[in-house]
Amino acid sequence: MVKNQREYIELAEELIEHDKHYYDEAKPAISDFEYDRMMKALIDYEKKHPDQILPNSPSQRVAESATEGFKQREHMVPMMSLANTYSEEEISDFIKRVQKGLEKKEVAFCCELKIDGTALSLRYEKGKLVHALTRGNGKVGDDVTANIKTIKSVPLKLSGSVPDVFEVRGEVYLSIAAFEALNAQREEEGEMLFANPRNAAAGSLKQLDPREVAKRKLNLLCYAIAEGQSPESTQHETIQFLKKAGFPTAKPEYVARCHSISEIMKFAEKVHKDREKLPFEIDGIVIKVDDLKAHKILGATGKTPRYAVAYKFAPEQATTRINDITVQVGRSGVLTPVAELEPVFLAGSTISRATLHNQEEVARKDIRVGDWVAIEKGGDVIPKVVKVDFKKRPHNSKEWKMPRVCPACHTAVVHKEGEVAVRCPNPKCTGQRVRRVQYFASKHAMDIEHMGEKVVEQLVEKGLVSRVSDIYLLTEDDLATLEGFKEKSIQNLLDSIEKSRKCPLSRFIMALGIKYVGTETAELLAEEARDLDHLMHMSEEELLHIEGIGEKTASAIVEHFSDRANREEIRLLLDHGVTPQRQKRQKIAGHIFSGKTFVLTGALKHYTRDEAASLIKERGGKTAGSVSKNTDYVLVGEDPGSKYDKAKELKIDILSEEQFKKML
Ligand code: NAD
Repeated sequence: MVKNQREYIELAEELIEHDKHYYDEAKPAISDFEYDRMMKALIDYEKKHPDQILPNSPSQRVAESATEGFKQREHMVPMMSLANTYSEEEISDFIKRVQKGLEKKEVAFCCELKIDGTALSLRYEKGKLVHALTRGNGKVGDDVTANIKTIKSVPLKLSGSVPDVFEVRGEVYLSIAAFEALNAQREEEGEMLFANPRNAAAGSLKQLDPREVAKRKLNLLCYAIAEGQSPESTQHETIQFLKKAGFPTAKPEYVARCHSISEIMKFAEKVHKDREKLPFEIDGIVIKVDDLKAHKILGATGKTPRYAVAYKFAPEQATTRINDITVQVGRSGVLTPVAELEPVFLAGSTISRATLHNQEEVARKDIRVGDWVAIEKGGDVIPKVVKVDFKKRPHNSKEWKMPRVCPACHTAVVHKEGEVAVRCPNPKCTGQRVRRVQYFASKHAMDIEHMGEKVVEQLVEKGLVSRVSDIYLLTEDDLATLEGFKEKSIQNLLDSIEKSRKCPLSRFIMALGIKYVGTETAELLAEEARDLDHLMHMSEEELLHIEGIGEKTASAIVEHFSDRANREEIRLLLDHGVTPQRQKRQKIAGHIFSGKTFVLTGALKHYTRDEAASLIKERGGKTAGSVSKNTDYVLVGEDPGSKYDKAKELKIDILSEEQFKKML
């Protein structure tokens, strides 16, 4: 339960961070189940305190950001997410809300598989595929047409009579067999493994080279036509229509028309039972109101439609033994205990490690080497140890304690009072260096290809790279000393390093590894600051003026740039020829929004707050967090907060969403 605004903000920030790991990096840090629980707590608080809803609240928007290298295009009809349920009671509440909204008791539902992949929209014009977009932020997605064309089941030309222009919605996925083959190959090549088929599908779809994508063997399953575009009147008929037109759809036994909660639960049970048999992963079922007209009546809240809900299966568990507890050193020196498990098969993959988070968690659950434990995977693959079977505990087992010295550099560890984390305080620690360099070179930072974990480890261990700026001093001779490096691999790495010198400013900011600064914040900072030097000298107050930057982040940024060592590192990077490129936001000149200050309140139907703010800024306007005499317009959505009352009191112009759209 979230108790106050401070806790609410912290929870929102935490969820935003998880969104980044999940969507942008395809590397979730917690289970979906845990994420959904946190999100529920956030939404419960927001329902009680609508005036405090953050403009960038993760409950309000679909979080995936645009991927560099792909053209972005707008969806004709926005793509949404789905609200989650985990129990019969929650489904029953959903049915009641639907019945109330439609003012009738008899409602038919179409129940389907919830395929665990990544959403895709295919646009057809005159029966021909014109482009395929990822969901992106719901309004604008990445154009992945070339990659999608590598999927054989995607019809490029449709058969039969179809609407002139329409968007088909489906899920791109990797079969469990293709996922395992891909990970086996990556393991051999020393590349990071994908956490699960969903992440692998999402990651594969964003490959820039379609030939690479073709190797990954992606697949597609279509389940809908964008709202208002189906030639049919119900959801189940739409699926039949799609099948007839040549799209891959689920087998008929997995599309059920249900009229009651008991019929829905029966379908869910059947799917749950069949789960292991399916060639792809599912994480539950989707329950949709069957009548498409009702979809329009029910509409949407925030980022989810009111006419559909996901019923997710509770996480699966397996039992295994802990063979050892090892300790991993993080980028900032945080030490994380990891359970080395007797390999066990769980929900589609073999698990041999599980994070134990921190020493308190180990103590709280009293986890020891030799213990038999239940491990869990909640629709994702970073497994966690749920509980210990104390009855099976070996007699001679000992309580686990965090080592007193860092496993990488043997410096005495530090445990500050009031902090959970135990750290290695040695900035020269090889373990930390490896993680820092790895982070710096990663896809979302400097994007230095061919510099995976194994390569970084060697570079650091051989003393060739001790700080990130050393990367730019590497020579052919240096790289020739690395295991397995020959002419071609040396040149590839040198080329990637060279390419990264001209990185966008946002990536450079991201690569600095400032606390709380992820992709989105880095982009915001890159847009708002004149250049790097300006950013380095911005005060906390100035940073707080940037919509989307909170107190914790502002103070972390100032702290980062006041540190002499950090400034020195930046200077070295620049001296070695790194020249971050400023990206200019495309401005629309002479618009009526130019020079005007907007305040946003309530939930907008067609835009998230971030999107609306972006549209305003593109047109030369500004957004502010509170209403004052300097406010020109207050844009009011559904359930506005106290800002609306304040605007009326100060006689500020109030805009409805419709008016706003017209003015745009
Ligand atoms: P979602 O995956 O829960 O549900 C919506 C998606 O389901 C749709 O976009 C569509 O792609 C897919 N889908 C599959 N079959 C479908 C069908 N038959 N009909 C309609 N849609 C179907 O939502 P999301 O917005 O993609 O992701 C949010 C979820 O992702 C969260 O609830 C959480 O479980 C997970 N998540 C986890 C983390 C983490 O750190 N573990 C972080 C962010 C999100």
